[in-house]
Amino acid sequence: MKSGRENFLYTACGLDTVTLMNVEVRRCAECGEYEVDIPRIEELHRLIAQEVAAKAARLTPMEVRFLRKYLGFSGVDFAAVLDVTPETVSRWENGKKQMSPVSERALRLMVFVRAPLAEYPLEKLAEVAQGDAVPLRMKLRESRSQWQAEALAA
Ligand SMILES: [Zn+2]
Repeated sequence: MKSGRENFLYTACGLDTVTLMNVEVRRCAECGEYEVDIPRIEELHRLIAQEVAAKAARLTPMEVRFLRKYLGFSGVDFAAVLDVTPETVSRWENGKKQMSPVSERALRLMVFVRAPLAEYPLEKLAEVAQGDAVPLRMKLRESRSQWQAEALAA
C-alpha cells in the first residue's frame, strides 16, 4: 500500500459531485484497491446536507436521495411525511418526476431542523428550488479540525 494525500471524489456518500480535498489515501499499486481516511464523517455529511439544502437550483434526483437518507427516512416514511405515495418518491429519485418546489422547500427545512444553520433567514426560501436541477459541485477541506466548503459553483 502506497500512502499519499490527494483530492478524492467521494462517490460513496451517494453524490458524484463531492470532492474531499487533500485527504489521506492508501493505494495498492498492483490491484488498484484503496483505503481513504475520512475524519469526522458525521460532521462531513452534515455539511454536505446543509450545502445541498441551501443551494439555489432545483435538487437533482441524487440530491433528493442523499437528503432523504441523511434524514434517516425510508422511502415509505419520507412519502408519509410529504403526503405523497412511495412511488412518487421513487420517481423523484430516479428522475422520472421532479419534486414540486414546495416539497423541495419542505425537504430543505427538514435538513435545517436536523442541522440548523447559524443564520438562515426564512426569506431565503424564496430564492431556492428555482430553475433547472443543476448538481451542486463541492470541494470540501478539513482545516483546523473542521470540515469546510472550499468553493461552491453550481
Ligand atoms: Zn492489492
